[in-house]
Amino acid sequence: MKNELIERFTSYVKVDTQSDENSETCPSTEGQWTLLHMLVDELKTIGMEEVTIDENGYVMATLPSNTEKDVPTIGFLAHVDTATDFTGTNVNPQIVENYDGGEIKLNEALKVVMSPTDFPSLKEYKGHTLITTDGTTLLGADNKAGVTEIMTAMAYLIKHPEIKHGKVRVAFTPDEEIGRGPHKFDVAAFQANHAYTVDGGPLGELEYESFNAASAKITVKGTNIHPGSAKDKMVNSMKIAMDLHSKLPAQEAPEHTDGYEGFYHLLSFNGDVELTKLNYIIRDHNKEIFQARKTTIENIVNEFKGQYGSDNILLELNDQYYNMGEKIKPVMEIVDIAQEAMESLDIKPIIKPIRGGTDGSQLSYMGLPTPNIFTGGENFHGKYEFISVDNMIKATQTVIEIIKLTEQKA
Ligand SMILES: [Zn+2]
Repeated sequence: MKNELIERFTSYVKVDTQSDENSETCPSTEGQWTLLHMLVDELKTIGMEEVTIDENGYVMATLPSNTEKDVPTIGFLAHVDTATDFTGTNVNPQIVENYDGGEIKLNEALKVVMSPTDFPSLKEYKGHTLITTDGTTLLGADNKAGVTEIMTAMAYLIKHPEIKHGKVRVAFTPDEEIGRGPHKFDVAAFQANHAYTVDGGPLGELEYESFNAASAKITVKGTNIHPGSAKDKMVNSMKIAMDLHSKLPAQEAPEHTDGYEGFYHLLSFNGDVELTKLNYIIRDHNKEIFQARKTTIENIVNEFKGQYGSDNILLELNDQYYNMGEKIKPVMEIVDIAQEAMESLDIKPIIKPIRGGTDGSQLSYMGLPTPNIFTGGENFHGKYEFISVDNMIKATQTVIEIIKLTEQKA
């Protein structure tokens, strides 16, 4: 399985599939079409059935049931795009066999070194086969490792018909990194009872709770007058904006919170005397507290409207996604099966709330409850991204085991 994983993974990461939030199309970039079409061909080659790609680039395929039992159809999803934070052009994966636990020279000429001093978790990979970047790009393990693992699990099950399973659906999707992932995903066509994204990080990660998320854009209008004759006339929008921001609880910010603690995050602050714009994101796992955070912003804005005129302070508040836990907890057995699958492979499940969202956050609200499992990668979205092939094997086995257990329990 090892060489099969390496071969698939390295061929996928060489296709530049960075998504682009300024593009209106779906997928947002041509490179994603290239990889999606490659995957269509490969799904057919390994013997998957009902292989389709729709006008928005969503690839779906079926592994038919080989059991008499009435087993719920489960889905596995991975996204093909890579992050916008760092370049994904000319990815040149490096294979480190039998990693010694020390420094890894990613790029001799550019002096890019990955050391256990900066990345203490590297020590856990002693003896593993790692795949790293050459120090000039991201790797794209997020989420091509997931694509690789799902594809390899399907190929394995097709070669091993003695393993009984229900119907399995797989999907490869575009544009997760720009938040659009499932926007055009045809849940009805997918026809799965529930699904798993294989889009997590280190070994054992199992996630079924995400943030509730909203954005808040505040516009403050001022009045600019020559400073020499400004007395009682000038209204400086930046000062109002600073005052407004200071009303938010200073400790409830990303840099002061973790675990289940939510926050207000000031993403950008752009202004001059005449006009200032504040961009926030609001996050909380708890729905009531999430609502209360939005109300807090509304109340502050209303207070400022009272003071400066309702035309001069504007608020645009938009929900982005919700905590998938709310949709998954009623069907907790799908998380339990994933946990049991990991334990049966001697993997210690690490169940933590995601401080962000996944495609599953949206899919779960579209009627497809979708927890997330690990891929084996670390340091996503940058040049220090790497993945352990040993843990890719474990992720692939976890997918297979989830499929087995779902049949056994039916
Ligand atoms: Zn991802």
